[in-house]
Amino acid sequence: MTFVYYAKNHGRGLTRLFTDELRKDVTNRMLVEAELWQGLQRGEFVLHYQPVVDLSAGTVVGVEALIRWNHPDGLRMPDSFIPVAEATGVIHPLGAWVLTEACRQGARWAQQGLDLQMAVNFSARQIGHPDVVETIKTALAGSGLAADRLWVEITESAVLEDAELARIVCNRIRGLGASVAIDDFGTGYSSLLYLKRYPAAALKADRQFVAGLGLHHDDSAIVASVIGLAHAIGAICIAEGVETTAQYQALVALDCDYAQGYLFSRPVPAQEIPRAVEQCNSVLAGTSC
Ligand code: C2E
Ligand code: MG
Ligand code: MG
Repeated sequence: MTFVYYAKNHGRGLTRLFTDELRKDVTNRMLVEAELWQGLQRGEFVLHYQPVVDLSAGTVVGVEALIRWNHPDGLRMPDSFIPVAEATGVIHPLGAWVLTEACRQGARWAQQGLDLQMAVNFSARQIGHPDVVETIKTALAGSGLAADRLWVEITESAVLEDAELARIVCNRIRGLGASVAIDDFGTGYSSLLYLKRYPAAALKADRQFVAGLGLHHDDSAIVASVIGLAHAIGAICIAEGVETTAQYQALVALDCDYAQGYLFSRPVPAQEIPRAVEQCNSVLAGTSC
């Protein structure tokens, strides 16, 4: 990314002064961008999968695909490179790779008798791309994954950036037979009116509220409201970041639908999923409320 693009990305019509710190930041982004392209060519990206459990049925219903980068210098987590991929446009080929790989893996598991829903994260820029629905259609057709197994996760801030466009795209995704989940729900400023017009099949309660369940009255009230809101619009609520039995029990008491978190399983490579599913089942059996 050039300095001009950097300035535009940080607000049109504003004057940016190029300090040494800013220069270092831009140089670092340019370096990471070049490495991202290289990483894609060399096949350095992998997906890990975190099981999602159905709290009332006490079973694993799906997984969320989470990208990792096997960089020559060591494993890199998404927060360290997704923002650069978004700012530079690398997110489009990278996101297409994630989607294709996740759909293929989901179809492979289905063939082996492991019927799992597959949740894939999309960034705001991907949702804004004119080809996004076609890309999803192609990934589904190419892999053989049933469309109703695919969940497209979009963060709340992306939904708000261009609410009308997001609503149209999400409706088209739903038209393919896939479902849309609003990720990190509660961290943006969703208007209730958007929610009413939005075809979301799930709201994911952000893990910072789940962390305070049973500890802070505010957090418990917020999680209860997200669950109530989800149900009111005919959607389900998925709690993220469940780490303790107390949080799990609180979610069951609040009538939360699905949950994921380290209590059940960390994100793991594809080949470890059968074992992770067993681990989830034993947590669900051992700590049933
Ligand atoms: P997210 O979609 O909200 O994913 C949940 C994050 O919480 C993941 O971090 C997951 O590893 C972590 N997590 C799960 N359970 C627990 C828990 O019990 N405790 C704690 N402390 N953390 C837990 P990760 O994998 O580092 O991903 C971070 C974010 O990066 C994701 O947040 C998502 O927004 C983004 N991301 C990941 N993969 C992709 C991708 O393929 N494409 C795009 N566009 N974004 C991605
Ligand atoms: Mg997610
Ligand atoms: Mg989230």
